[in-house]
Amino acid sequence: MNQQNMKDWLILANERIQEQKDYLSELDRAIGDGDHGVNMARGFQEVSNKLATQEFTDIGAMLQQVAMTLIGKVGGASGPLYGTAFLKASTALKGKGECTNIDLANALNEALKGIKLRGKAEIGEKTMVDVWEPVVSKWLDNPEAGMDELIEFTHECMVETKAMEAKKGRAAYLGKRSIGTFDPGAVSSELLFSSLFTVLK
Ligand code: ADP
Ligand code: MG
Ligand code: MG
Repeated sequence: MNQQNMKDWLILANERIQEQKDYLSELDRAIGDGDHGVNMARGFQEVSNKLATQEFTDIGAMLQQVAMTLIGKVGGASGPLYGTAFLKASTALKGKGECTNIDLANALNEALKGIKLRGKAEIGEKTMVDVWEPVVSKWLDNPEAGMDELIEFTHECMVETKAMEAKKGRAAYLGKRSIGTFDPGAVSSELLFSSLFTVLK
C-alpha cells in the first residue's frame, strides 16, 4: 500500500459512511443515543477534506493526521476509540513511504490493541471489537487471503453482533434489550474494513 492507495481507502470509507449516515444513526437510536452516523460522517468528511488538500511525508504521517482529525471531530465514545486506533497504526507505520499487506495487518493489530486498552472491551461484548479482532486475526493468520473472502468474513462478524448483549458503551444500559440489533460501531468498522479490502483488490 502506498500513499495513493491509503488516500483512496479513506476517501472510499468516507463515501460509504456518508451513504450510510442515517442507517448508522438509526442503529444507534435503537440501542444508544442516535448519533453514531452523524459523529462518523462529521469526522470522516473532515478526514477526506484534509487528505484531498494536504501532502504527507509518509503513510505514518498521513494516518497521524487522520487520528488527530477523528479525535477532534467525531466525539462520543467512538471518536477517541477510532482516534486511538489510527494513532497506533500511524506509529507502527512511521516513516514508511509504502508498506506490504503484512505491515498493514500488523499496524491494524496495534490499532486493535489500542481500542481494547482504551475501551476495555473484549470479544462478544457487542462493540466494534467484534469486527476488529476476528478480522485482523484472520488477515494476520492468512496474509494471502483473498480480498473478497475478507470482505465476506467482515460482514459475517458484523452480523454476529445482532445476537449479542451489550456489555460496554451506552448500549450496555439496556442489558438484554440490546439484543436483536447490529452494533452501530461494528457496522462503521465493517465500512472501514470493506473499503480497505476493496482498495487492495
Ligand atoms: P456514544 O455512545 O458516546 O454516542 P457513538 O454513538 O459514536 O458514541 O459510538 C457508539 C459505538 O462505540 C458503539 O456502537 C460501540 O461499537 C462503540 N463502543 C462504545 N463503547 C466502547 C468500548 N468501551 N469499547 C469498544 N467500542 C465501544
Ligand atoms: Mg451514540
Ligand atoms: Mg453520543
